[in-house]
Parts: sequence; C-alpha cells; structure tokens
Amino acid sequence: MMRSLYVKFAAVTIGIMLLSGVIAFLVSNTYYQYSLKPQNDEKNTEIALEMAAFIENNPEVSINDYLSNMADVGYQLYLVDNNGQEQFFGADFRENNLTDSDIQEVLDGEVFHGMADFPRQTFVTGFFANELKNAIGVPVTYQDTSYALFIRPDIKLLFNEIHLLLGVLFVLTIVLSILFVLFSTNYLVKPISRLSQATKQLAKGDFQANMLNTKRKDELGELSTSFTQMAQQIVENDQMRKEFISNISHDIQSPLSNIKGYTNLLGDKETLEEDKQQYKTIINEEISRLSTMTDQLLLLTSLDQNQHIVKRKHFSISNQLQNLLKSYQWLIQEKEIMLSYTLPDLEIYADPSLLNTVWDNLLSNALKYNQEGGSIDIQLTYTDEYCFITFTDTGIGISDEEAERIFDRFYRADASRTRSVKGTGLGLSIVATIVELHEGTITVRSNQEADGTIFTVTLPLER
Ligand code: ADP
Repeated sequence: MMRSLYVKFAAVTIGIMLLSGVIAFLVSNTYYQYSLKPQNDEKNTEIALEMAAFIENNPEVSINDYLSNMADVGYQLYLVDNNGQEQFFGADFRENNLTDSDIQEVLDGEVFHGMADFPRQTFVTGFFANELKNAIGVPVTYQDTSYALFIRPDIKLLFNEIHLLLGVLFVLTIVLSILFVLFSTNYLVKPISRLSQATKQLAKGDFQANMLNTKRKDELGELSTSFTQMAQQIVENDQMRKEFISNISHDIQSPLSNIKGYTNLLGDKETLEEDKQQYKTIINEEISRLSTMTDQLLLLTSLDQNQHIVKRKHFSISNQLQNLLKSYQWLIQEKEIMLSYTLPDLEIYADPSLLNTVWDNLLSNALKYNQEGGSIDIQLTYTDEYCFITFTDTGIGISDEEAERIFDRFYRADASRTRSVKGTGLGLSIVATIVELHEGTITVRSNQEADGTIFTVTLPLER
C-alpha cells in the first residue's frame, strides 16, 4: 500500500518533469525556428558579404591565403567557380549536399540562405548540422572570375565547450531531480504509511499505537496530532466502557441476586407473615433500582441522539424544588440529615421534566455521599439575566482530580465505589448534558467550611 503510493507519487512527478521537458523543448524550438534561426542566417549573411567585399576590394591579397586564414579563425568554407573548379577550407562538411542549381543561383549573383531555409523537422539541432546545405552562399568576383563562396561557422571549433557544458547541465539536472524526487517522495509518503500502519494497529485493537512523529508543522503533522488525540480518546473511551460494563454488571447483578434470594424466602412455608411483608418491600426497592438504571441509560441515549428533546414551558422553579424536597422528606429524615433552603419565587422558561431530573440527581447525590448527621443546603438566587441554584452538602467531598472527571460518563470516584454506595456514574453526565441543552453551566467546588461539596447550576433567564 505504501509502496504503491510511493511509486505513484514518484512516477507522476517524474512524468511531470519529462512532460515539462518536452513542452519546454517544443516551445524553445518554435522560438528558435521563428526568431533565432533567421537571426543566425542574417548574422552569417553579413559576415559572408563582408568576406566577399574584402576579397573584391583587395585583389592583391591571395584569395587562397585569405580563405585559409578565415578557416583558421573558425569557419568552414567552400569556393566554386563557373567551371566547377572547387576548393574547401577548414574542417570538412559532413555532407556536401548542395545542388547544382543552388550553386548556379549564387554564381548568378544571388545570396543563398541555406541556414534560414534549413528544414524545420530537424528542430534546434539544425543549428549544429554540419552540412553544406546549412550554409550561406554569396557571389564573389576575384581577378575577373566569378565564384560562389559558401561559409558556415565551425561549430565544433567555436562552441565545443559550451556544447559540453550544456550537455552536462542537462544530464545533471535530470539525474539530480530524479534523485531528489525519489528522496523527497519518501519524506512525504513515510508519515502517511506510518499513519496507515498505526490505523491498522488501532483497528486490530492495539491502542498503544503511539509511534507517530508529531514534530512536523505541516498538514501531515496536524493529521498525526489529530490521529494521536483520536487514539488517546479511543483508549479513554475504551477504558470507560470496560469500567462501565464491570460496574453495570455488578449493579445489575446485586439487585438480581437480592430479588432471587428474597423470592425464594417468600416461597418458603416457614417464613413468618410479617417477614414476608418486609421481603416484598426489599424486592420492590431492588426492582426500582434496576428500572432507574435503565431509565438513566435511555435518557442519556435520547439526550445524545436528539438535540430537540427540550420542551420548554413557563413554570415556577421554586415550586418544583419544594415538591422535590417533599418527596425526599422520608429519606432525609431517615438519614438524619439537616436540611435548609432558600427558595424565593421565580418563574423560568425551561423543560420542567428535564430540570427535575437535574435537581433529583444533585439532591440524591448530596444524600448518598453525605455522612450521618450531616447537612444539605439549597439556595436559589437570581439576577436579571441568570438564576443560580446551589446544592451544598457536608459529605465525603471530591478531590480536584476527581472533580475534573465526575461529569464524564460512567465515572465514579474511588471513595464512592469503595464505600459501596450504589450508583452508575451516569447521573452527573445526564445533569451536565441537560444543563448544556439549556445553555447553562454547572460547576463543582469543595465546601470550605465543612468537608463536602458545592454544586452550582447557572441557567440563563428569558429576557
Ligand atoms: P453515581 O451514580 O455514581 O452517583 P454520578 O454521575 O451521579 O454517579 O456521580 C459521579 C461521581 O461523582 C460519584 O460516583 C461520586 O464519586 C461523585 N459525586 C457526585 N456527587 C457527589 C457529592 N455530592 N459528594 C461527593 N461526591 C459526589
């Protein structure tokens, strides 16, 4: 998988390089054909005409000496007269492919533009073609004889080094860029393949996949960081899920075995009638515990799935809290808890049933995690914009680290578990979700005066 990405990327890049090379060649070739080639022809025509002028103006200089000299300076020359008498100076032409009519034209006084007319198919390489056809021909009269003089610069002599230099540059560019592409592709693809390997490990259930290099500052670095975060989140969730399953299994198991035990006792003929009544009460309690738990789970799931579950109404929050306290009266008395509260009349616009769940959870926690003879205080205060509901207890308290996690699903502080207080760890996450759906906040802090905890719910009031 990684290899194929690597090969594809490298192949595409090299392909792009080659394609650009071909396009660049075609473009520069067009430039050569339409601009440089005529210029080159013109330049050489001027030189040839000057040579002819020199020969004609200096009849005392031997034409052979002069042309040999020009050959030494860097020209290939071909001289032919009316009678077909011909002479070459300088390096040989690879092909002597002038036609008789080409020669006749020049002898008749015209200039032969072999360079400009050199065939297009040869591309830029036409510049280097060492052929007599690729030369400039001019008429010359020397000692009353008409000659045709063909010249062309000796490319090999004049430009050999540049020629080599360009070749080396070209080859080096290609070789080096291919090497760099192969190298840089590896640099780009490696983190992706590491990521894919880590994903596979994660899929297999190995959550320790933590070998990602997150030092990179680019998109891949960002991806790796998100991936690592995601993996950590998954590890956390997995841990929570395991904890939850073991908690919930225990919480389901214990009421079930109680129910089973007491049902057996009920069937026993020797059980006294008054004991039977007590056993029935216990069985009923256990059943409602189970049903609370399933209710909580269902509520949490529906809160998760449906944001529009909130059905707002105008109602008196103070009445709601007072009714709740009444329904808890017997438990509060049984546990000998001192209850105090301040509940000024206040109407709010919210979902009464969901908010009742919030107060119910906070109050039942304040009772559950309280000490014998402890106290609970409930305060309702408000401003123009917000109302604040505070539950203060003198219970076992919550450490700072625990406070950060108690709103997490399934989380239960160690103290609650070791004390074998019944619970699922779902209550406060339900509370937090409901408060959030009402655009409110919930905070927890330690009770400074006595040991214990203070929960404060803040809800926005309708303007
Ligand atoms: P549970 O079903 O365990 O009560 P909650 O979500 O209601 O689940 O609470 C999560 C944890 O927060 C509890 O297990 C307990 O450790 C801690 N907690 C909640 N309320 C209080 C409180 N009033 N005092 C001390 N600890 C509390």
